[in-house]
Amino acid sequence: MHTPLLIIGGGLSGLAAALRFARFIPDVLLLERHSRVGGLNSYYYRNSRLFETGLHAITNYADPKEKNAPLNRLLRQLKIKRRELDIHQQNQSEIRFLDRQSLLFSNDFSLFENEISDKFPGSFDGFQKLLLLITDYDPFKPESFISARQVIQHHLQDDLLTDMLLCPLMYYGSSIENDMDLGQFVIMFRAIFLEGMFRPGGTIKDLLEILLTHYKNYGGKLRTKASVVKILGDDKKVQGVLLESGEEISCDYMLTTIGSEETFTLLGKPSGLKKLPRLGFVETIFELPPQAELARARDRTIIFYNKAKTFSYQRPCELLDINSGVICMPQNFQNLPPSSFTEVRTTHLASYRLWKNLKNDPDSYNRAKENAALSSLPVAEKILGNFAQNIVYRDTFTPLTIERFTGKNNGAIYGNPVKIKDGNIGFDNLFLAGTDQGFLGIVGSMLSGVSIVNQHILPRL
Ligand SMILES: Cc1cc2nc3c(=O)[nH]c(=O)nc-3n(C[C@H](O)[C@H](O)[C@H](O)COP(=O)(O)OP(=O)(O)OC[C@H]3O[C@@H](n4cnc5c(N)ncnc54)[C@H](O)[C@@H]3O)c2cc1C
Repeated sequence: MHTPLLIIGGGLSGLAAALRFARFIPDVLLLERHSRVGGLNSYYYRNSRLFETGLHAITNYADPKEKNAPLNRLLRQLKIKRRELDIHQQNQSEIRFLDRQSLLFSNDFSLFENEISDKFPGSFDGFQKLLLLITDYDPFKPESFISARQVIQHHLQDDLLTDMLLCPLMYYGSSIENDMDLGQFVIMFRAIFLEGMFRPGGTIKDLLEILLTHYKNYGGKLRTKASVVKILGDDKKVQGVLLESGEEISCDYMLTTIGSEETFTLLGKPSGLKKLPRLGFVETIFELPPQAELARARDRTIIFYNKAKTFSYQRPCELLDINSGVICMPQNFQNLPPSSFTEVRTTHLASYRLWKNLKNDPDSYNRAKENAALSSLPVAEKILGNFAQNIVYRDTFTPLTIERFTGKNNGAIYGNPVKIKDGNIGFDNLFLAGTDQGFLGIVGSMLSGVSIVNQHILPRL
């Protein structure tokens, strides 16, 4: 079999890339190793209901009038109407450093500005100057690493406020320990604080089906359970792929969305990329009945918390680090249709290495998952009020779960800390999109797929 464009990976970047290309040339083949698309952002069934894997909130909210906002640009490029998404904005989210300070934010940026002006008056002028830098900075220009932490600290002169600004941006988009590249910080600050968060009215399954329906309507092809085990070609040009089934498929162009190191493994050659520690996470979903009250949650959508003296965003020395984390209430978005359950999701940094040590001992692994959920519960209850007595179902996933279902090395959601911003990995006809290009999150990864197709593939055909 031969195809002009072959895309490896049916996550959101691969799906968006395939859809963008199929609008012009329907001859595109998307290969996904799993039985369904979505990758990190997919779903599964347990306890007779659908659970979403990677959807707390979608960043980059934009009003329909803001024609150049990333979300609206993305929808135009994919020819998807806004109303198909059924957008629901967040209520309010919060950065809470326990027993110290709290900052509220919403999709109205003035709330965040007022909070900073009230609670950190001495840093407010510096914050305004930092904002000017954030709005003027071009995060896509090629530049070597600039420490965002140093730039923020220089402007604000306040360690607590610096950590509070970094906490949500790191949790939702940093593959680097304890710091961020300035460009990545600017992207995430705009995506979370300046633009805001939303979710679709349906589940991630509905969103994936919208993308797939458009793709298939253009004539694009998808193969699931199609795991690529080798990329065929020489040092400059790729010819096609070998699937686990033994089938070979040739192509003119190839786009990989599975990660840089992961791609070089399939090529059978070293990547030459610097090896830096990768970050893993543990997430627990607590399911409660629909009428369950979370006494102190109020209307919060997401709470980013820290209870340690200083905020540490690094691989923990234990299975997970509950000193900080994310608590998400997916039902707390504006005007969502009534749901048959209430959910609380907690996310913490985790050690891939320690989880991996348990891999061959299912009893210990399952006990560790149970303990992870139980250790996360008291801090969630301290913030939300008691809810343990109402839990009807609970599920926990670890870096090993992520590795098993998406093939991401070390189960690192944010991939390789070394990003390849232009998608060029040294081949004439093979390009990289997705997490390791440096665009993170749902909108980010889709924009990545679209921009690499626009930049490298469409102009050559
Ligand atoms: C717990 C969790 C919570 C999250 N929360 C949010 C959130 O609230 N908001 C947000 O915006 N983002 C969130 N994210 C992040 C978001 O899901 C990802 O950034 C985004 O989905 C990445 O998409 P991708 O296409 O780059 O990568 P992936 O989703 O990893 O896609 C790669 C695909 O390639 C496939 N693949 C791998 N190897 C092969 C092979 N050899 N052959 C064929 N196919 C292969 C994989 O199965 C996978 O489907 C979260 C993620 C997780 C896990």
